Amino acid sequence: MEGKREKWMVFSAWPYVNSVPHLGNLVGSILSADIAARYLRMRGAEVVFASGSDMHGTPIEVEAIKRGIEPKELAERNHEYVKKLFEKWNISFDNYSKTESPVHIKFVQDFYRKVYDNGYIFDDVVQMLYCPNDKIFLPDRFVVGTCPYCGYEKAHGDQCENCGRLLEPTLLINPRCAICGATPIVKTTRHWFFDLPAFTEKLEKYIEGNKNLPANARNMSLQMVREGLKPRSVTRDNKWGIPAPFPGAEGKTIYVWMEAVLGYVSAVKEYFEKRGTPEKWREFWFDENTKTVYFIGKDNIPFHVIIFPALLMASEEGYVLPWTVASTEYLLFKGLKFSKSKRHGIWIDEALEVFPVDYWRFALTALRPEVRDTNFTWEEFRRVINNELNDAIGNYVHRVLTLAYRRFGQVPEPVEESREAAELSSTISKLVDEAGDAMARFRFKEALAKIVKLAGEGNAYLNRTKPWELDDGAAATVLYGALHLVKALAITLSPIIPGSAQKMWEFLGYSDSVERHLWEEAKEPPPPGQALKEPKPLFRKISEEDIDKAIERIEEIRRAKEASS
Ligand SMILES: [Zn+2]
Ligand SMILES: [Zn+2]
Repeated sequence: MEGKREKWMVFSAWPYVNSVPHLGNLVGSILSADIAARYLRMRGAEVVFASGSDMHGTPIEVEAIKRGIEPKELAERNHEYVKKLFEKWNISFDNYSKTESPVHIKFVQDFYRKVYDNGYIFDDVVQMLYCPNDKIFLPDRFVVGTCPYCGYEKAHGDQCENCGRLLEPTLLINPRCAICGATPIVKTTRHWFFDLPAFTEKLEKYIEGNKNLPANARNMSLQMVREGLKPRSVTRDNKWGIPAPFPGAEGKTIYVWMEAVLGYVSAVKEYFEKRGTPEKWREFWFDENTKTVYFIGKDNIPFHVIIFPALLMASEEGYVLPWTVASTEYLLFKGLKFSKSKRHGIWIDEALEVFPVDYWRFALTALRPEVRDTNFTWEEFRRVINNELNDAIGNYVHRVLTLAYRRFGQVPEPVEESREAAELSSTISKLVDEAGDAMARFRFKEALAKIVKLAGEGNAYLNRTKPWELDDGAAATVLYGALHLVKALAITLSPIIPGSAQKMWEFLGYSDSVERHLWEEAKEPPPPGQALKEPKPLFRKISEEDIDKAIERIEEIRRAKEASS
């Protein structure tokens, strides 16, 4: 590559570990970020891909109280569980950290002390609801009561789920503590606030000038900035959190939202500390040429385009601001949103118990809600796996490898000019470019469609050229082209189904990792004379019965979980 290598930081929103993520959570954030990181590495970029568990705050504290254990114990246990799950999902994190990491805790405190010293933190007295029974201040979500607008009796302190209006806990009629049901009292407490309005002009300039942000994220954020920003509270009265470093704030912790978001920085810092180059994180975070992409939920856009950049500005240290954010629409399950309380959906631990990881990674990419909400149904899952993964890709690869292995045992030397083979080669180049272009725009579903099309071209080529009817010389030429297409599939599929792509790669006779190769190499055929390995089918079709069994198995897992909790 000419010039300097591109530098990228790829981030996914930090999962809050009071529960296991479901497929809807995974598809737009962690899985998307993984595909992006894998693709960018194959483009030759220097990439740091980091995330971590968001562990502090009220929901975990309350859950721990219910179970009679320490919040730290519960949070660490959940962290270990999801961390292992992400390994099983083959997520290629350079660092998967946690907000209880000592590096993070120290970083957050130093950071906020700096912002305080720069004059952007002030304190104020506020009225909050307090449960006299649980002896805690109740965050918005932990107050339920009757909506003053529509009369719905189970409205939460921040929002009424029935009429959708935004609320304040003190507006609720007949408020109750969500933990114990007691009537809360109004208590005065002091809190610390971040002076977000001080950054109005700078934010407007940053958002307006940043053409990489998706149009909807830009417009929505600009509108919010122009309508007027309010100070954001930085502290909470929770015990389970990072102690606030401000004078007079003893006993207060930093609000989880305002703390976990700094994990994007601390996890990179921690990564380079672990590698023994503790200063190198600065080469990423303080270089304006570093590109950053944040894979987040749609509802998190304002936080990443307004509040987080403002915090980075407030430190006055020159952190690189978000280059872009990437979010998806919603993945629905049988037409409805995934719901934890209704147990509607599939969770990432259950999924791996019923089908191989690459089936899921493939299907979720094929069904990625890129431009509109997309419905996940078992029928769709089965169709995608059977028609696209198994028939179009798997069968092509297996046919070619078997023909070439049996007849030549190696990548054959092409012996004659062939118009068909030349055309195939240019089709491969064209589709590899198109798939790469979609990958670079983080349109992974679009990229996968190009790759499936490539496999389709391969199948059509075999049917046209019929190498099994040809003499050795002609067959060698035809199969050489066909094997090139297998190589192109292995490389381009590697970000999406890394395990299966690696197997294709090895059947082609390579002994290293396909993911260490460059995307561009998909345009070059494998070397003639390279010994092939005996191929085995990579995938298999899913029957209706398999689906029934999977559904039954998931029910079983849920019953066992409920019984043990
Ligand atoms: Zn209402
Ligand atoms: Zn209570």
